[in-house]
Amino acid sequence: MSKQYGFLIDIKRCYGCKTCSMACKSENMTPPGVLWRRVREYNTDNPNTGGFISMSCNHCDDPQCMKVCPASTYSKRPDGIVVQDHDKCIGCRMCIMACPYNAPVFDPQEGKTSKCNLCAERLDEGLLPRCVESCPAGVLLFGEIDELRKRHTTDWASLEARYHLPDHRISGPNVVIIPADR
Ligand code: SF4
Ligand code: SF4
Repeated sequence: MSKQYGFLIDIKRCYGCKTCSMACKSENMTPPGVLWRRVREYNTDNPNTGGFISMSCNHCDDPQCMKVCPASTYSKRPDGIVVQDHDKCIGCRMCIMACPYNAPVFDPQEGKTSKCNLCAERLDEGLLPRCVESCPAGVLLFGEIDELRKRHTTDWASLEARYHLPDHRISGPNVVIIPADR
């Protein structure tokens, strides 16, 4: 693989406006109830503190979705983006069960599953992913994951405990996460 794209999420900056999530929905015209990027609220031990985490697909090194899909719907592009051939989806939801991050979303109306493709068509035109472009707080960055990792070293053990994230060793997510100060 020549490169691997990913996201950086700076939790410190996020104030939970969900602009990223709505921009994604608008860009990809996903059906009602289907959000490829979701903003989760978390609480801390202090009743007056909390925060938000904006996440979508992490375009993993070892995509569990791709491993289990019986219809060979998923593939990993040379730039590391995990894309879905939506026409092939048979709606079995195996990918949802396998993904540690609950990234794929099932649409009961259509009977199929879909997920973030990192705005691959926009990237191919030299544009940024819509979520990154739209965030008013600069929470989300996009780029080659090696470059993003130079900005911050993710302490997975502490992040996983603090934000109830799954074990990153399951799929190797291509995301850098900067935690909140408190
Ligand atoms: S747009 Fe930015 S600040 Fe608003 S919820 Fe998304 S990541 Fe947070
Ligand atoms: S986050 Fe989930 S859907 Fe995305 S590549 Fe990883 S395993 Fe697949």
